[in-house]
Amino acid sequence: MALSSILENISLQPYNTFGVEATARCFLSVATTEALVALLGGQGQDVPILVLGGGSNILFTRDFEGLVLKNDILGIDVLAKDDRSVRVRAGGGEDWHTFVQWCLRRGFYGLENLSLIPGTVGAAPVQNIGAYGVEVGDRIETVEAIDLQSGEPCRFKADACDFAYRRSLFKDRFRGRFFITAVIFKLSKQPQLITAYADVRHALAERKETTLTPQGLSDTICAIRRRKLPDPEKLANAGSFFKNPVISRQHCDELVGRFPELPVYPLDDQRVKIAAGWMIEYCGWKGRTLGACGVYPHQALVLVNYGGASGRDILILAEAVQASVEETFGIRLEPEPLIL
Ligand SMILES: Cc1cc2nc3c(=O)[nH]c(=O)nc-3n(C[C@H](O)[C@H](O)[C@H](O)COP(=O)(O)OP(=O)(O)OC[C@H]3O[C@@H](n4cnc5c(N)ncnc54)[C@H](O)[C@@H]3O)c2cc1C
Repeated sequence: MALSSILENISLQPYNTFGVEATARCFLSVATTEALVALLGGQGQDVPILVLGGGSNILFTRDFEGLVLKNDILGIDVLAKDDRSVRVRAGGGEDWHTFVQWCLRRGFYGLENLSLIPGTVGAAPVQNIGAYGVEVGDRIETVEAIDLQSGEPCRFKADACDFAYRRSLFKDRFRGRFFITAVIFKLSKQPQLITAYADVRHALAERKETTLTPQGLSDTICAIRRRKLPDPEKLANAGSFFKNPVISRQHCDELVGRFPELPVYPLDDQRVKIAAGWMIEYCGWKGRTLGACGVYPHQALVLVNYGGASGRDILILAEAVQASVEETFGIRLEPEPLIL
């Protein structure tokens, strides 16, 4: 990759779904792994690097004084299949939802509950994307990456990725260190439909068809998401701005004693997840605006940019929400997107 293809002083507004203005000092579209390896030249870079996918989980609060590497590595290959399962490798720059639909059309199942999540394949392992009872970490076999410090290629088996609720080693321990070039998925050729989530059950109950196919489940989930979440093309946002707090059962019992309607989702014997959206709504934030941004009126977990808000404006709103929730519930909400 010629260094001359590095662009300078590029607006990041078209590259983030919050639609906020920020400038990247340097910007490069990376279309192949080989080009990335050549760029790094067997060693790390001395400028800060940001790997960017679809920009649907990032809040820019200032210009980025380094090199943005936009992941445009494409390609989907079936590596192996038998009667029951299939291994599929997808380039990190592939659009996530398009990839999910590609798999469904070929009868490769397991990703249908993750339909319509914005972003790229390469970002999916970073926060272990999840929705409607499925997390992508359960469908990943291997993550292929380039170490931005050494320039060396690396492979991580799923059990080495520290996948947990909206976490992985790419988001926590090794944040910003690896460029994920491709992901290998292990999918099933036999549908195993996961429909336990209340929203999914209710939507399916309203459908006329008696048999449910994986494509039907995907369509149902897309319809639920279109109803509940703002489309970033029409109303700028980054999905859930806060994670649902994970707390001990004992802590949860105390909270439920004070707030009996607090929704609680058991994770295991020790830990439960509690609904951040409910707490934000309880504090009166649902539908409120602060300047040009606000809390989405139909889902309190989502912050939206009504047009013209800066990243700092959105951060000020987020901090005000955090302060209210902390004052009322004694819990500090953790943001989900990367804040830069
Ligand atoms: C309307 C809406 C709904 C959403 N719903 C969900 C949901 O249901 N579940 C869910 O989990 N998330 C959801 N999200 C969040 C978002 O879609 C996911 O986190 C998605 O995986 C981000 O992909 P991206 O390509 O846009 O990543 P970006 O926003 O570009 O990047 C996010 C982070 O990943 C890093 N990164 C990106 N690509 C790579 C790579 N190739 N290698 C290494 N690091 C990389 C970035 O540096 C950054 O830290 C939603 C967002 C929106 C706007």
